[in-house]
Amino acid sequence: MISETEHYTCIACPIGCPLRLEHEGNEIKEISGHSCNRGAKYAHQEFTDPRRALSTTVTISGSLWERLPVKTTGPILKNHVMEAAREIHRLRIDAPVQVGQVLIEDFMDEKGINVVACRSMPRITLISPGHRKHPSKKRQRVSNRQYNNRKTMHKTHDQ
Ligand code: SF4
Repeated sequence: MISETEHYTCIACPIGCPLRLEHEGNEIKEISGHSCNRGAKYAHQEFTDPRRALSTTVTISGSLWERLPVKTTGPILKNHVMEAAREIHRLRIDAPVQVGQVLIEDFMDEKGINVVACRSMPRITLISPGHRKHPSKKRQRVSNRQYNNRKTMHKTHDQ
């Protein structure tokens, strides 16, 4: 069988060693270029079962922000990433949400891999501009009343 070579860049640390994997069909013959075992493991994984962790955002309503950051709790098959992103983007979340809350369980039929919220987002109630004036007016009335009460109290003490 013809021997072929795959080239990868190790992403297990910032050094980024250039890796070479020689194989005949599905059989790995040699891995080289790595400075530590993590590189060899990475090249093996890339060749036999390439996977990627997925982080993105989804639409959320009822919170201060319109996008909620989410991620998968483990790496999913590399050739499923685009479909997975489309699936996640179809989500519509309602606040409140807690960090770590599971939004999709066993994502893409991968047992134990969930899509979770990366941050908490409380529910907020929006106040329309028409309602904004009222509380401040009320506060003003209350403070005027308090002021008059204080004046009355002072007068009583002075007498
Ligand atoms: S092979 Fe080892 S040293 Fe090289 S990039 Fe990978 S983890 Fe880092």
